[in-house]
Amino acid sequence: MYVGCHLSASKGYLHMAKEAVSIGANTFQYFTRNPRGGNAKALDPKDTEAFRAFAGEHGFGQVLAHAPYTLNGCSADPGVRDFARRTMADDLQRLEATPGNLYNFHPGSHVGQGTETGIALIADMLNAVLFEDMHTTVLLETMAGKGSEIGGRFEELRAIIDRTERADCLGVCLDTCHVHDAGYNIVNDLDGVLAEFDRVIGLDRLRALHINDSKNPQGARKDRHEKLGEGHIGLEAILRIVEHPALRRLPMLLETPNELDGYAKEIAILKERHA
Ligand code: FE
Ligand code: FE
Ligand code: ZN
Repeated sequence: MYVGCHLSASKGYLHMAKEAVSIGANTFQYFTRNPRGGNAKALDPKDTEAFRAFAGEHGFGQVLAHAPYTLNGCSADPGVRDFARRTMADDLQRLEATPGNLYNFHPGSHVGQGTETGIALIADMLNAVLFEDMHTTVLLETMAGKGSEIGGRFEELRAIIDRTERADCLGVCLDTCHVHDAGYNIVNDLDGVLAEFDRVIGLDRLRALHINDSKNPQGARKDRHEKLGEGHIGLEAILRIVEHPALRRLPMLLETPNELDGYAKEIAILKERHA
């Protein structure tokens, strides 16, 4: 299985990969730059080369680069939309140094312009930044539907994919806290939710999982992550997700409120059930 957690990118790729191994992981997630945006650190070709070799030796799965969460390609402010485009375009160019991996982003918040307009603007951004022969798969994250967030319904993600020209570069990252908070019953009807995902988007688009418990009940539209087993999803439901035949081969990334030792414990729990 491919399991890992969110790590700090401040010391580079090789450092993250070694940190991952030290906690029993064989993949990881990181922010491409400060989560609030801003400039990314210059890439060190020695570091990316060493990372690629190390990841190969240690049988890593795909790693997940996460866009800054301030990136909003469907803002009402053209300056914010332009920043989102430039940031994503730059991230995707940089990721060519670590080919074959995943780039996840929050679709965005339409801030009162309406879901239809938001979807169209997000697709415009993707059409501007995806390029021929890219070596990264771009993932739309399922969202909790907080405020005016796009992506709380599978139909919204499908509509973005349908409007994107290079849709072969696109996939989806399912966040367990988010879909639960958005109202999907992954606790008592996982098969029903996956059937719905398959009908609306297609399970072949599902390329990664964010494994989180939730501080809030189903449908709360809050997006507050909790440690595994300490929230409203519960450990048994999480473990059913992790061992599900349609999901068990996907990279699974923890974004629970933990330090490294807490992540190590959660990774051990997931691996034990998966064996
Ligand atoms: Fe996210
Ligand atoms: Fe997430
Ligand atoms: Zn979240």
